[in-house]
Amino acid sequence: RAKAMGKGCYAIFDEDMHTMAVQRLDIENELRKGIKHRDFVLYYQPIINLTDQSIIGFESLVRWNHPRKGLVGPDEFIPIAEETGLIVPLGEWVLFESCRQMNDWLQRFPSHQEMLIHVNVSGIQLKQAGFPDRVRTCLQTTGLPSRCLKLEITESMLMSLEDRAVTILDAIRKQHVQIGIDDFGTGYSSLSYLHRFPVDTLKIDRSFVLGLDKNNDNAKIVKAIISLAHALGLNVVAEGIETARHLTMLGSMRCEYGQGYHFSHPLPAHQVAGMLGRA
Ligand code: C2E
Ligand code: MG
Ligand code: MG
Ligand code: MG
Repeated sequence: RAKAMGKGCYAIFDEDMHTMAVQRLDIENELRKGIKHRDFVLYYQPIINLTDQSIIGFESLVRWNHPRKGLVGPDEFIPIAEETGLIVPLGEWVLFESCRQMNDWLQRFPSHQEMLIHVNVSGIQLKQAGFPDRVRTCLQTTGLPSRCLKLEITESMLMSLEDRAVTILDAIRKQHVQIGIDDFGTGYSSLSYLHRFPVDTLKIDRSFVLGLDKNNDNAKIVKAIISLAHALGLNVVAEGIETARHLTMLGSMRCEYGQGYHFSHPLPAHQVAGMLGRA
């Protein structure tokens, strides 16, 4: 009997697997078309100086403007784009469009000369031969000064690339482009590796920030990450600041920058222009 049940379970499992595989293939094919037709848009979330609440820059976040589903968030397609290699052409577009857009804002709003654009880069993209050269070409083509670009790589991607990452990041930083480690605290960094990565910024994962006011351990962890960053000469951006209380706590911990719904959701480009025009 147990055996029969076991078999039954396998049959259901197989069917689910089949459905999932078909859905994945559909998404993959649609992604291909989407990239061809440029059905993607970038949203921009302000990054704030927590001391004076001024805007120091924006993080670009991609959305898929799907012909039937409407705007689809990155968590639903970035993993598939990474598995299929489609992240390479998609990421290339994201990098180019982010730099073009930031340069446009710098020209139009000259009182905001020191703004940065943070661009998320997948490890798959980063390890492509010639990636540092593509970054250079992108800056030349768009006219964006290299000091205005910061690339974000997740902690787990960095750790999986190990020594290779050091060489690639060195080549990027030679061009005065900055590097931030994204989702810091979730990637099981070996501290002995961390200090060898040539980076400028740690971004504290929002899971720690969201738990700040509820959970005393979270506050200790955030405090420790900020001290670690400062000891290594890095600056810190806290993600996921949703309340005034998060902001106050982070300020008392000497966290210099942050982003989150408390300040602004990610915005389409025209709304950013409105914001910069007023500020
Ligand atoms: P991320 O780089 O860590 O980006 C932060 C995510 O947190 C964004 O989600 C943002 O909308 C969300 N967020 C910002 N403030 C708050 C807040 O106060 N509370 C909460 N709960 N969430 C907040 P989004 O846009 O859905 O992006 C998810 C992830 O997708 C990003 O995480 C990044 O890893 C990836 N991603 C987005 N755009 C790109 C891209 O162009 N290339 C690559 N490779 N990955 C991307
Ligand atoms: Mg990011
Ligand atoms: Mg993050
Ligand atoms: Mg994330």
